This record gives sequence, structure tokens and C-alpha cells, in this order.
Amino acid sequence: MNEGAPSSGRPSAPAPPIARLIEALHKLPGIGPKSAQRLTYYLLRAPEAEARALAQAVIELKEKIILCSLCQNVTEVDPCGVCSDPQRDRSTICVVEEPLDILALERSRGYHGLYHVLHGTISPMEGVGPEDLKLDELVARLRNGAVQEVIMATNPNLEGEATAMYVSRLLAPLGVRVTRLARGLPTGADLEYADDVTLARALEHRQEVS
Ligand SMILES: [Zn+2]
Repeated sequence: MNEGAPSSGRPSAPAPPIARLIEALHKLPGIGPKSAQRLTYYLLRAPEAEARALAQAVIELKEKIILCSLCQNVTEVDPCGVCSDPQRDRSTICVVEEPLDILALERSRGYHGLYHVLHGTISPMEGVGPEDLKLDELVARLRNGAVQEVIMATNPNLEGEATAMYVSRLLAPLGVRVTRLARGLPTGADLEYADDVTLARALEHRQEVS
């Protein structure tokens, strides 16, 4: 008991295993330092099985998830569930930036075709060029002539628009119709956060990329 003793001036840091988890969680999007601390101390108190299940889920995520060789979406089996589903309309491919965007479009229930994930957008500022996106894979899927329309569902911001324009020019020689989601999506917002009705409407009123 050091009550009344002069303070050493330096607050004591948490034990290294605690500090390590706080730091790892803090790196996750949307997790600030306070949340990282809260989650860490929650796991410290949680039953052993719960903490182990979380760790195991993270390991399996990295070990078992691959990219679908057709649409480039994340999947455990190749081809993925959408690409191998005979009910999907094979004449349309909806092009998105990230796998998460597919979840948003599926939730809207307004789309029944196939997808293609670019895994990014053209962004000179961040040094991302067309060669960094899954564009060769997209072109390869259009070669057999079965696909009649490509819907560009990149985000309604500068990079998303530039990417849509680039892809439409790239595909022009192939004679495929290229459309863009209708306006109405909040500009600058991510597809991921659009509500289902807005997204379904944007799909329904899609327009030719000029
Ligand atoms: Zn697929």
C-alpha cells in the first residue's frame, strides 16, 4: 500500500499480452483505442471456449477463404455459390469494387445475374492502376459472347466513376452493353451503406455509360 507515496509519474502499461491484443484490435476499421480496450478486457473475462472460438474463426477465415476463379468473390468453394447456381441469369454481370458490395446488392433482392469483383478502383492518388484490378479476368469472361450486359456498380465517388468509365471503354470493342447504376445513390457514399430500396431502384433505372 503506497497510499500517500509520491507518484512515479508514469502510468503502468497493461501486461504485454493485453497490450498486444489491444493494439491488434485497434487496427481494425471502426475500432478506436477505447473500444479496443473494452473488447480486450471483455475477452479476458469471457469463458475460455468463447475466446478460442473467436481465434479459431479468424484462423479459418485466412486458411479456407479463396477467390472464385470466375467472379473473384471470396468463397470456400470454387466456383462460388453464385457462379454455380443454375438459377442465376448468365447474360448479366454486375461489376463491384469489393466483396462486401455483393452482400448489399443481394440484400436488395433486385438483382439475379452474376457478379465480378474488381478488388479496388483506379486511384492515381493511391497508386492503383487498371493493372491492379481484376480486369483481365472480367474480359476473359466476356469472350464467349454469353454475357450481354455489364452493370457498373462501383461507388458513386470520383474513383468509382473513373473506374466505370475506364471499364466501359475497355469493353467497347467486345460489343457488350455497359450500364451504370442510376443516380439516387447518395454521392460519395459507399454502396455498402445504401439502403435496400435505394439500391434496388438504382439497379432498375440503370443507364448506359456514355
Ligand atoms: Zn464466383
